[in-house]
Amino acid sequence: MNLNDSFAIQVLQRAKDETHGWKMLIGGEWVESRSGNRMTSVNPAYDEAIAEVPAGNGEDIQLAVEAGKAAYPAWSKLHVDERAKRCRQFADALRGAAREFGMLDAIDSGNPFLSMVEDAKKGAALHDFFAGLGMEMKGQTIPTPGGGLDYTRPQPFGVVGRIIPFNHPISFAAGKIAPALIAGNSVILKPADQTPLSALWMGKLVKEHFPPGVVNIVTGEGPACGGALVAHKEVRRIAFTGSVETGRAITRAAGIKSLSLELGGKNPLIIYPDVDIEKAAAAAVAGMNFTRSQGQSCGSNSRVFVHSKIKDRFLEAVLARTGKIVIGLPELESTQMGPVVTRRHYERVMAYIQAGRDEGARLVCGGGHAPGGALQKGYFVDVTVFDQVRHGMKIEREEIFGPVMSIISWDDERAMLQEVNDSDYGLCANIWTNDISTGLRMADSVEAGYVWINGHGGKRFKGAPFGGVKDSGIGREHSIDELMSYTQMKNINIAY
Ligand code: NAD
Repeated sequence: MNLNDSFAIQVLQRAKDETHGWKMLIGGEWVESRSGNRMTSVNPAYDEAIAEVPAGNGEDIQLAVEAGKAAYPAWSKLHVDERAKRCRQFADALRGAAREFGMLDAIDSGNPFLSMVEDAKKGAALHDFFAGLGMEMKGQTIPTPGGGLDYTRPQPFGVVGRIIPFNHPISFAAGKIAPALIAGNSVILKPADQTPLSALWMGKLVKEHFPPGVVNIVTGEGPACGGALVAHKEVRRIAFTGSVETGRAITRAAGIKSLSLELGGKNPLIIYPDVDIEKAAAAAVAGMNFTRSQGQSCGSNSRVFVHSKIKDRFLEAVLARTGKIVIGLPELESTQMGPVVTRRHYERVMAYIQAGRDEGARLVCGGGHAPGGALQKGYFVDVTVFDQVRHGMKIEREEIFGPVMSIISWDDERAMLQEVNDSDYGLCANIWTNDISTGLRMADSVEAGYVWINGHGGKRFKGAPFGGVKDSGIGREHSIDELMSYTQMKNINIAY
């Protein structure tokens, strides 16, 4: 094995042992896939297989649904305080093992170790947050003619499906099951094909803190495993985070059930000429998430619309910062940016870079494999910035999901806003100005579900609803809206 960091090797071995050789968790038991088929997880920094995990399919989903159904009545009848207690204990255990989970994610996903330690803590924090909100799952009383009593009660769905993408494995595996559990549902978690290891290992903490069958973890390939979960008649609620393309497939396959879709983004950062250029450049680089996930974040500000008056100085300030980003092996604490997740994705990002060149954008930084002997085997894309990008170019239109930033200069606000909104996506937008009226006017006008004024994409706030408009999705997360989305309202009318 190329990996030679002793902590990383130790964590990998421990996780393998504690999952009984990378088994899935169904009904509180470690199980192999019914077919016996396995799929490979690769360390993207070395292009090397590190684990074989079960390739679950419809048969395994069926078992998980049965386990979820068996666990549901008792779990849903527990007082919410009791469910909250379990979630808090689970969160404490995850926080206590954050360095271990962070390391496992670093070697499975390629994201830098320290940022993955923070991700594990973020996953835990969402359990605390939703545990605190539990008592807010309230109904209403409704005045009805002729007296009597009419009231509503939010009730859970039963078994819900939670499908997650590759880019923040433990943060999503842990955090995104929290509201479903607090609301009283049992859950089937389907981790991403590329990064299943930390979710499987999380099974150990699940086993210790939740009754059997309340959380089931089934690994497998998208259509075969996730597809079976989506199509299952008795799973009445599916929450999906991933690409627009898969979101469309899920919408077609789901039939009549409650769906939430957190999808991609091609997020604009709009910069007015009155800003502090250094601060705006710092926000642009931070918000591109070069250093947290190689730009593989839905909220990355990959389209930077900067006023032509300050464009050259802004670009210089951006390049001064991107030039300092430390690209390295993800298991090292010194690393700020690692490889992208798979060879296929590396090639996809490189094809976008080529398209940028072919369409006449000016490459001002990166554009190839990251330099350095130790990085040659891995899928390391260099920090890449294109200047003179024009609206309509492929790199300006499509979500690259890699460390590639496009700079577009503007003079006329109306024309700029038209270009900003001329996108199928509508996840986030970020506006930099020192004029509060301009900021507020633009915040109203941009077509996005989450807007910062003088902020950046790395900053999300618990309680503030996160989600997109247009093709970026349906539903809101990290807020009371998300908790309530795991309930369905029942109306009860009593005649006196
Ligand atoms: P993806 O859509 O390829 O896969 C996501 C998950 O869906 C995986 O678990 C996969 O196995 C599963 N899947 C694939 N096909 C399926 C099918 N037919 N039925 C059911 N499940 C299926 O996405 P990805 O490449 O893992 O992640 C990147 C995408 O996720 C980007 O577009 C990114 O913007 C988006 N994303 C969005 C948010 C958000 O909050 N809006 C957060 C993170 C990532």
